[in-house]
Amino acid sequence: MKFIVTGAGGFIGHHLVSHLKKSGAEVIGIDIKHPEFEQSKADRFEIQDLREPITTWKHLFEGVDDVWALAADMGGMGFISQNHAQIMTSNVMINIHTLEAAKLAKVKRYLYTSSACVYPTHLQSKTNVKPLAEDMAYPADPQDGYGWEKIYTEKMCQYYHAEYALDTRIVRFHNIYGPAGTWRGGREKAPAALCRKVAEAIETGTDAIEIWGDGEQTRTFCYIDDCVTGLQKIMDSGYNEPLNLGRDEMVSINELADVVAEVAGVKLKKVHVDGPQGVRGRNSDNALFQRLMGWSPAIDLKTGIAQTYPWIQQQVRMGSKSPT
Ligand code: NAD
Repeated sequence: MKFIVTGAGGFIGHHLVSHLKKSGAEVIGIDIKHPEFEQSKADRFEIQDLREPITTWKHLFEGVDDVWALAADMGGMGFISQNHAQIMTSNVMINIHTLEAAKLAKVKRYLYTSSACVYPTHLQSKTNVKPLAEDMAYPADPQDGYGWEKIYTEKMCQYYHAEYALDTRIVRFHNIYGPAGTWRGGREKAPAALCRKVAEAIETGTDAIEIWGDGEQTRTFCYIDDCVTGLQKIMDSGYNEPLNLGRDEMVSINELADVVAEVAGVKLKKVHVDGPQGVRGRNSDNALFQRLMGWSPAIDLKTGIAQTYPWIQQQVRMGSKSPT
């Protein structure tokens, strides 16, 4: 078997490459950068900007069985709330090109990584929110340019499936976290940002961390090992419609900070400051995934943070102070 992973230099793509290599498959990683923290296990790693015309790179898809399309210009709330035009332009180009290259090469299967950001913002206005099921995405009112691009590319995948017989899968991730992901620089997501803030507070002897907003906004978080297992199950399932991949252990950002502090063995004050917060509440309905796959992500938040925090603490100790 021969696989392509786009976005193989990023957080989930890097972990996915390591997982796929265990099966003995040949894996080609594609990205505009190498993984930041560890060497990729890909057999070949192509530095390629997927926004460029496919005539220069479509040959990479020849003879490929599965494409795992993870490349995206993305980040946490700080990044996606302020770069709508850049995000939509880059990601529409990346995904149209990748779908077209896969179609021309007649690849066997194609998995697209969408997001919980496709769900309508008006369904996420309370902290105690109803879990979002797959059929709640329409009428469309997604979160930010990032969510609009995701719902557009979901449709593109469905049209490529219907009209070109490309065997597509669509995964809607709900906040994936774990070691070896972005932890500073402005693109980091809440779990990594809070691990960094707690580790920095310990390093500098500070007794407080900053939280954007009142910290009562709610989310669910899925650990990277569960994410990779779930991805493999979806690819193997033959299911072509969008599918949530997340957990339903909903916590506020304040509670997430408490879990990180508990794992780090400290008590810290929370200083609430202005900052982008995204939707007020978000939870993942995982019933369809459970029914189809007979499996659900099982790693609870505290167990996952206990794996993630030491890695970020080590990065903080080794590296220079965060710019923010
Ligand atoms: P990431 O930012 O760590 O990885 C994305 C990778 O895509 C990066 O390495 C980046 O360099 C690469 N990329 C960006 N522009 C490119 C281009 N023009 N050509 C080639 N490569 C390019 O993000 P991630 O967390 O690993 O996310 C992977 C996928 O999952 C993305 O599609 C993302 O939108 C989606 N997703 C992630 C989460 C999450 O919680 N991490 C949630 C919802 C959806």
